[in-house]
This record gives sequence, C-alpha cells and structure tokens, in this order.
Amino acid sequence: MPKIEFLNVTKRYGNIVAVKNLNITINDGEYLSLLGPSGCGKTTTLRMLSGLILPTEGKILWDGQPIQDLQPDERDIGYVFQQFAIFPHMNLWENVAYPLEVKGLSQDEIEKNVEKYLKIVGLENKAHLFPKDVAAADLQRTGVARVLARGAKVLLLDEPFGALDFKIREQFQDELRGIVKELGLTAIHVTHDQSEGMAISDRIGIMKKGKMIQLSTPTDLLFNPRQIFAAHFIGEANFLEGIVVDKLDDQIVVELIGGDTLSVSRNIASFFPGDRVVLGFRKGFAKVLNERISDNNIISGKVISDRYLGEKRRINVKLEYGRSVEIMVLPHEQRHSEGETVNIQILPENMLIYHYPKDGLEKALEVT
Ligand code: ADP
Ligand code: MG
Repeated sequence: MPKIEFLNVTKRYGNIVAVKNLNITINDGEYLSLLGPSGCGKTTTLRMLSGLILPTEGKILWDGQPIQDLQPDERDIGYVFQQFAIFPHMNLWENVAYPLEVKGLSQDEIEKNVEKYLKIVGLENKAHLFPKDVAAADLQRTGVARVLARGAKVLLLDEPFGALDFKIREQFQDELRGIVKELGLTAIHVTHDQSEGMAISDRIGIMKKGKMIQLSTPTDLLFNPRQIFAAHFIGEANFLEGIVVDKLDDQIVVELIGGDTLSVSRNIASFFPGDRVVLGFRKGFAKVLNERISDNNIISGKVISDRYLGEKRRINVKLEYGRSVEIMVLPHEQRHSEGETVNIQILPENMLIYHYPKDGLEKALEVT
C-alpha cells in the first residue's frame, strides 16, 4: 500500500558498516526482494524500516513522510521471521486473535478479522488446531495472518521459508505473492535463495557488503546484469578474461587469454580496442557441439564431467588454456564422455561484457 523510500541510509555498528548509502524506492503494492550473501545487510535494512533500529545517517520516508519518530508499533508493518513467535498454548485462531485483544478491539471485530485473515492464508479449517499439531508452513501462515489482522500494510519477510521443505516452499511462495497482490500490500522479502527471489518478486535488489549492486526485475537481472557480481549471484554464469581487439558496427571482438576470440553484440557502447575485459555467459545459454560447425563464437575444450543435477545436466569443460567452464543442458541432450573434445557455442547476443574490475575478477566474485 504505501510507497517506501530509503534516502542515503547508512547503518554503522562501530567500525562495521552494515548498510552503506542505500537509496531505494519501493513502490506502492510492489513485491520487492533483497537478495545477497549472509552478512550483506538485508536484515539490517528491514530492521531500520520496522523501527527496531535507527539509521546512523539518512532518512526513510513512508508515502513521502519521514518515519524516524514513529515507534515500531506505530508503523503499519508486519514482520515475519523464519521462526515466528507462535504461542504454543493457544490454538491458531487464538494466536491470530491475541494482538487484536491486546489492541482492545470488540469481540465482534476480533471474530470478523480473525476469520477473514485465516481464510486468506488458507487456514480456515485448521483454526482450532494447536501449533504442535500443524506443519511448519501452517505456523508461518498463522504468523502472516496475525500481522495482517493487526493491520499491516507493509509486510517484512525475513527468510520466511527458511525452515520449510523445498516443495512446500514453492507452493507457499505462490500463496504469499497472491496474498500481497490481492490485498494490495507492499512487501519486502529477504532471502539468500536466488530462485526464491526470482519466483516471487516484481523486482530484486542484489546486495553485497552493505551496498545495493543492482535493483531490477528478474528478467533484467538475468539478461542485463550490470555488474559481474549480479551476473554471478543471479542465475549461474561463467567468466573469462580477455582484451578487446576489434570494434565493428554492431559487435566487438574479444580475444581471450589463450587465443580464442568471442564476439559480443549487446551493451557494448563503452568498450574499445585495447580494453581489458571480463566476458560472461550464462551456463544455460550455451550449446555443446561435437563438430566445429562454424567458427562463430566457439571455444573448445575437453570434457571433465557430465553429471545430472536434478532435472538438468552439468557439463564441466576444461578449455585449451587451462580455465574451465560449466554448461547446463537438458537431460535428453547428447551425453559426453570424459576426455572428449567439445565445442561450446555462445551467440554474441548471449555474451555479457564488463570492464576488468580494478581489484581483480576474484574479488568481484567474492560473496563475503
Ligand atoms: P544479512 O541479513 O544480510 O545476513 P545483517 O543485516 O544481519 O546481514 O548484517 C550486516 C552486517 O552488520 C554484518 O556484518 C553483521 O555482522 C553486522 N551487524 C548486524 N547487526 C549487528 C549488531 N547488532 N552489532 C554489530 N554488528 C552487527
Ligand atoms: Mg539476515
């Protein structure tokens, strides 16, 4: 419901900068995820918005109004954690009703609200059960119903599926997004699981070491990651170093260490011959060929392994000059044996290109 803005928000703990100069706008009704490795500042960001902690610098606006003077319970925020505090001696109905009783609502209003929100989270038939008799996902559903019944307009979800099994997780993701959209809430969801972020969000903010690296739609993060770290953290990518050797109208040509060349056709305006670059390509956006059918954008190497990875296969290939790359293919595609020479084709429009980072490639890929 509300629009939330972070303006130059920094949070320090002594020498530790937990969140650095954060500028984000979360739109009315948006489902936003914060994604990044452990310790990158996700929880700190939520806690500042909830009012549990104050920013060291900067402002947070709620529909344009600064909120630093509002106590946590004066902010219409519902905070859902991985292990939500469900009262074991109350049934699910009472768990949702409790904060409304504390608030002093009439019995009538309490009943109306509890019923409404238990129904929204799909627990209307389990209202009489006690926490010990329901699954972990139902406890999380109870938690969501409780904060909604209390009048939350913004949902803060900190690894809310952390304790749930994989299958339940996927179903709950759809449910939760459905609830947020149906009620027109604004949601900020913290996760370190990229597929969860991709599945549930309108936009995802990738954070690293307290900084926002890129805030974009899932599609944009997949196809146009603006930094090496975003390409690395969302989806899966290979990275290779090289030098720009030629610039044509619609393509640039990069010579890799070792001599192979690859052409790149997108996001190339800022690159010129002589530039040291990092090329990237998504592991699922390449083809593994036996024949060198054309010289167009092919690197070759020897197969190290070809393994099933759930519903996909991962082929690990060592390139002629020592580096290795991984390619993801579907199960029915041709299998390759160890030691076999293969050609990997990546179309120019599927290549990603970055200026070589000043602290080196390894540093850019570091997650902590
Ligand atoms: P995330 O949720 O992304 O894992 P956090 O926001 O919890 O990360 O933490 C960001 C950084 O701030 C970490 O380096 C963490 O150790 C530090 N930090 C968080 N809370 C405190 C605190 N109360 N005191 C000192 N350091 C903290
Ligand atoms: Mg956290």
